[in-house]
Amino acid sequence: MADTIPQTPFALISGSAQWGLMFPDDVLEPGVSVRERGLVFETPWGPSENWQVIEVSGEGTPDGEPRRILNVFAHGWPIDSINHEAFRKVAWILREAGVKKILADSTSGSMNRMLKPGDFIIPWDVLDLSQTRYSLSGKMTAACQSVQLFCPQLAALLKETAEELWPQPHRVVGQDQQLVFAHNWGPRFGSRAEAHAYKVLGADAMNHSTGAEASLAREIGACYVAASFIVRWQDGIMDRPPEDSTALHESLRHPASRISLRTMIRAPLSEQCGCHKLRTLTPREDVRFAQNQRGFTCG
Ligand SMILES: [Zn+2]
Repeated sequence: MADTIPQTPFALISGSAQWGLMFPDDVLEPGVSVRERGLVFETPWGPSENWQVIEVSGEGTPDGEPRRILNVFAHGWPIDSINHEAFRKVAWILREAGVKKILADSTSGSMNRMLKPGDFIIPWDVLDLSQTRYSLSGKMTAACQSVQLFCPQLAALLKETAEELWPQPHRVVGQDQQLVFAHNWGPRFGSRAEAHAYKVLGADAMNHSTGAEASLAREIGACYVAASFIVRWQDGIMDRPPEDSTALHESLRHPASRISLRTMIRAPLSEQCGCHKLRTLTPREDVRFAQNQRGFTCG
């Protein structure tokens, strides 16, 4: 039997940055406990599994009040199958929960020779050539603005937190560097040709989750920020064989997970960033819809 979706404005989407950890237990952040584990929520596209509710004491929150953070494992991906509709299920659940602030963590591959394995990166824009495939809107007239897909307020807070916790000599690269994230559905990594194509188009890094999540977060009117760290160069970017990233991932998954959690503990509920206003019909679609109602043809 499916569980009831709890109400909270805060969500943390866990990704490969946390693989191999018992989260949040292994992170040992003060004032943090798990209220409910192993939750399954029903959605219009079937069940979504591996959810939990993290409870945070008032210690460390901006208003001094306790808060709950809704958390899903591995972007909501099913463990034993490939179903990209998982992104839409997760977004639908977050909308039902009343979520306003989302952080998603992940690992990524670099297509920029200046971005190297071990860099903690906070993207600024998305290059996703398939972005409407799993829309929640259900109609083309419900187009959303695509500026500021990543919340600048959450991004600034994430950078500040990462600079406290990310181990040197690895670097923190914030939104001031205006990094662009390409989306690849996976599960295979991008090919050498794809990596070169996306690089020419302006992308700096690539993963399997951030593009889809950014689009859906905008559709539900929530602020979204991505916390990722580079584990490898995409194939074909460097003129040498790919390196095994296992040891690097194991050494950085703990600080990465702590950065995600601490950022969501500190996240304010402010709307000063303006993200929520960007979930609106575009003026052009408004006009077209009005023309159709009057029997005019679409231009
Ligand atoms: Zn925002």
